Amino acid sequence: MEKTIEHTSQQAEIYLPSIYSLTLEQLQAWMAEQGEKPFRAVQVYEWLYEKRVTSFAEMTNLPKSLREKLATQFTITTLKTLVQQTSKDGTMKFLFELHDGYSIETVLMRHDYGNSICVTTQVGCRIGCTFCASTLGGLKRHLEAGEIVAQVVKVQKVLDEQGERVDSIVVMGIGEPFDNYDELIKFLKIVNHPKGLHIGARHITVSTSGIIPKIYQFADEGTQINFAISLHAPTTELRTKLMPINKAYPLPKLMEAVRYYVEKTGRRVTFEYGLFGGVNDQIEHAEQLVELLKGLKCHVNLIPVNYVPERNYVRTPREQIFAFERTLKKHGINVTIRREQGHDIDAACGQLRAKERKEETR
Ligand code: SAH
Repeated sequence: MEKTIEHTSQQAEIYLPSIYSLTLEQLQAWMAEQGEKPFRAVQVYEWLYEKRVTSFAEMTNLPKSLREKLATQFTITTLKTLVQQTSKDGTMKFLFELHDGYSIETVLMRHDYGNSICVTTQVGCRIGCTFCASTLGGLKRHLEAGEIVAQVVKVQKVLDEQGERVDSIVVMGIGEPFDNYDELIKFLKIVNHPKGLHIGARHITVSTSGIIPKIYQFADEGTQINFAISLHAPTTELRTKLMPINKAYPLPKLMEAVRYYVEKTGRRVTFEYGLFGGVNDQIEHAEQLVELLKGLKCHVNLIPVNYVPERNYVRTPREQIFAFERTLKKHGINVTIRREQGHDIDAACGQLRAKERKEETR
């Protein structure tokens, strides 16, 4: 009896890699190793990303032996929906369970320019921003590329029922994408590929808290993907108070890296600036921000703080948000105030997971 139990639990620990983690080139290389033709990889991609099947058995134009071989080596990751909430404004929030029991969040936002999905890259986060719910409980593990891809496929399947598609992706869910860099890059290649989900690079945005070496690396990737920096403060002293990562990667060095990015890619960069009441939301901060960003091809996105029960930050009054915005505009800085969506459904990073999975986030 005991033996059987041991056997079962060992079986449960055998985890096959996700087929969604393979770029088309990697899948072609795998096919070649098996003595198969490269077009077989394209066929598999079509089944996965166009027809969106959930088993290898359904891939009926592949030889049965190949389907069986695929099934012994890979899994088609399925995410179990633990919670699905729909906001009055149409925003949908999902709490998904991974194969090992950890949970992640994915958000679908409805804009007049299309459907946008916000994906998670890590179970938890180790960056420790003082205002963020995603970092409560630290980092549990990285996601593999296929687990990030699976979020998009899963939400696309929900949209399939309405005859709609995922038009854009923001990598702004739980986790620090540049702390899981290689899997992030694979994910970007897969969703961007014409035979993959075919989402245009200019419709994808990656945001980082500021891991400087990875900013240089990302600049050198030569992609057209949009790039955002979580700035949140105009001076290094204040930024350190809000974001401990500023000790390892201080603001002046961060700005050097961002300037390198803009020069190298010719693309403008977005700065996310959360307004935390009484902390970084005064006119003097707006003026310091003007100084910091002078001459840089950029856009500032002001985010009124999302209240997190575990954190003490309060909202900036509306009038003051507008005054902050006016100060930036007056000096020629492109600025928008983030439209709030899903306010009634815990749609800020990590909030739903923090609420539903207390044991994971402590
Ligand atoms: N780790 C990456 C990706 C997360 S993007 C990054 O830091 O860029 C999510 C954005 O929401 C980041 O700019 C983050 O700083 C911001 N954010 C997190 N918690 C927030 C809160 N309570 N209120 C407003 N913005 C918040």
